Formats: sequence, structure tokens, C-alpha cells
Amino acid sequence: MKRNSNQLVRLDDSALAGESEAISPASAKPLFGLDTVSLAARMIEMGEPAWRGPQLAEAIYRQRLPELSEFTTLSKSLRQKLAVEGWQVGRPRIAQVFRSVDGTERYLVECQDGVTVETVWMPDGDDGEAGDGSEVDDADGELKERAGKSWRRATICVSSQVGCAVNCQFCLTAKLGLQRNLTAGEIAGQVVAVLDRHGVEVGRDRVNLVFMGMGEPFLNYDNFMAAVTLLVREVELSPQRMTVSTSGIVPGIERFAQEPADLRPKLAISLNAPDDRVRDELMPINRKWRIEAVIDAVRGVKLRPRERITFEYVLLGGVTDQPEHALEVARLVRRTGLPAKVNLIAWNPGPGIAYTTPRPEAVEAFRATLVDQGIPAYLRRPRGRDIYAACGQLKRTVEE
Ligand code: SAH
Ligand code: SF4
Repeated sequence: MKRNSNQLVRLDDSALAGESEAISPASAKPLFGLDTVSLAARMIEMGEPAWRGPQLAEAIYRQRLPELSEFTTLSKSLRQKLAVEGWQVGRPRIAQVFRSVDGTERYLVECQDGVTVETVWMPDGDDGEAGDGSEVDDADGELKERAGKSWRRATICVSSQVGCAVNCQFCLTAKLGLQRNLTAGEIAGQVVAVLDRHGVEVGRDRVNLVFMGMGEPFLNYDNFMAAVTLLVREVELSPQRMTVSTSGIVPGIERFAQEPADLRPKLAISLNAPDDRVRDELMPINRKWRIEAVIDAVRGVKLRPRERITFEYVLLGGVTDQPEHALEVARLVRRTGLPAKVNLIAWNPGPGIAYTTPRPEAVEAFRATLVDQGIPAYLRRPRGRDIYAACGQLKRTVEE
């Protein structure tokens, strides 16, 4: 384990030169976020032929061009016409980069109105576990050395809201409260900005998305699913390489269960407690939707072959990391009757939160108990904690 892997290095602003778009007036109209059909409709409104729609979509989502001036498939006069009418690409921009020594990068991504959210890039999974907790399938795993790429797969952790209203007691994002929902373009834009930064070749490179950054995706359901739709249909990423994590918003899970298989990401439930009593304390949302109600809703999801539901479980020292808790979790998971696995996450400390990180022996014993009980259980390595910068830590580091 690399102890120093969380050490962050702030890059010079010059390292970002060339990838930033001039900050635009909030009144400007972003093209980013519109799908091919909507782009075509806008073009027709402007007296242009409908085929301009697919042409714009190609430039925005496949070529990932961040500025209209780079759209060389469009005539100069059309680019000018778009600009005069207030259109711009309007993709969120990477405003700051923090790089961990192990290659993980955390970004502050700035939206057009100046608010920032966090997005994380994690090259490679670790031994036996990809960033989203799925097992490594190395069929196509030869190291990508092409064009200077040193990673063979990567995971991008994406935010769905600015802050969060759910108020889980162990989470840093909760401290921010909910500032606002992100639009579909702002959610998908984080991904495209990061793909662009790393020269990812969609369809060739193995990239997983996890909607586990700031916010509760199922409390911003329409924008979240519209973003997934853009990422699948326009950017051409596979929903089977996407995982959305929810604290257990039952109406959201019920809607999610109705999504078509060619759009639906995989599902992770933040269980975090062995029973309703403990969960009520840690996650006040549990008083509204009990564990049983969450599981009932999850049962409505028609899993694809070999797909499993992930239960995430944050281990809080002395609070949720005891051997009897592991037995309860195993019982609970078995009772669901669903193909499932458990992702264990050692709690990541933060200012103003009075929990303790579990002892490594307790973590390992917890995992071993689950496995012993027949429940596949994986542990996020310490570096995985970097993700939980997405739960507010990075923002605090910057602001304090
Ligand atoms: N709001 C969604 C997704 C974002 S949180 C949800 O709660 O599922 C992503 C994961 O981070 C959740 O499983 C959450 O339980 C976990 N988490 C939150 N704060 C954490 C912390 N301080 N340390 C470790 N994991 C944390
Ligand atoms: Fe929101 Fe998830 Fe944090 Fe809970 S754990 S406060 S749902 S971001």
C-alpha cells in the first residue's frame, strides 16, 4: 500500500493553459447538453439544414471540441452566426487540477455560473478490483502504452449536484447542504472534459464511470438520466461501464428500474449500516425509506446477465465495523435474494465529523466474515479514498 498516495500536488495554472475556455456570460446559451435531435431543431430555427445537428453533435461529443472556433467542419460565417446569437459550446471547464502521486487526479470543474464541483480520474483499478468495485476482467488488459498512455483502464467519479441535501452524518458533502442541481450538460460535461484531458479513445480504452461524487443522483433524477442518455447515445460510452450510487431514494430506484437495459447503469446502494436502528442514526433518510423498502424497490430492477447489485458499506471505527455487524450485513444481503456484492470503504475522516477510521484488522476481519458467509466483499484500497474527495474533502482543502 502506498501511504503517500493521497499526497496532492497543485499544478501550475500554466499546466492548464490551452484547455480552458474563456469564462462566458451566464446568459450565453450552451450547446453542450443538447442531443442531436435538439441541435438539429436549433439549426432549423436558425434557417440551417437539419443535418447541421449531427454535424454539431460530432464536434461536441465525439471530437470533444471545447470551443466553437475549433469547429472547422462549419463555415466561418456559420460559426459567427452561432456566436452572435449567443451560442457557445459551454462545456464545464477544469479549473484546477490536484494530482496524487499514484496518478489519481482531482478536478475542480467550473460551470458557467462559476459554481464548482469535483470530479476524479483514477487510472487503473487495483489488484482484483476496478475503481467501481467490479472485478478486473483482463481479457483486453494489455497495458495501453500507445501515445504515452500508462493506464489500461480508468474510472471517472462524477458529481450530480452541488452539495447534497441528504445529510448523512459521516459525509463531508453533507456539510455543504444542497446548493443546486447540476444540469444534464454539467453532469455529462465533467466526463467529456476529463476524457478530453486524457485523450481517451472511446470504444478502445476501458473507462468506467461512477456517479459517486457530490450529491444524490436520484434527487436530481431527470438531469442525471438525461446526462446518462447523452453519454450513451452521443459520447458512445456503455451503460454497463457506469455505476450510480444512491443513499436509497425509493421513488428514484423505482423509476430507475423502468429504464431500458441499453441506457441503465449498474446500481449501488449505500447501505452503511447493519440494521434500521443504526442506519436511522447515520443516514436520516432511512427514517423515510427503511432498508426493507429500499430492497423491495431494488428487486424491481431487471439485472442483465452476470450483473450484480453493489451494497456500499462505510466502516466507521467502533460504530459499524464489529464482527456482529458483518454477520448482520451478510444476513441482510442474503435475504434480498439478489445477486449482490459488498464494497467496503474505510471511513475517510474530515473536519468537524466525530467518527474514527476503523483499524485495518477490523476492516480485514469484516471482509473475511462476509466472504466466509458467502458474500463477495471487496475493500477499497486507501487510494480509493481519494474518490471521497468527491464527498467534499477537496473543496474543503481548497477553501480552508
Ligand atoms: N449520494 C450518493 C453518491 C455519492 S456518495 C450515495 O450516498 O450513495 C458515494 C459513497 O461515498 C457512498 O457510498 C457514501 O456512503 C460514501 N461516503 C460518504 N462519505 C464518506 C466518507 N467520509 N468516507 C468514506 N465513504 C464515504
Ligand atoms: Fe449525500 Fe451521498 Fe453524502 Fe449522503 S453520502 S450526504 S447521500 S453525498
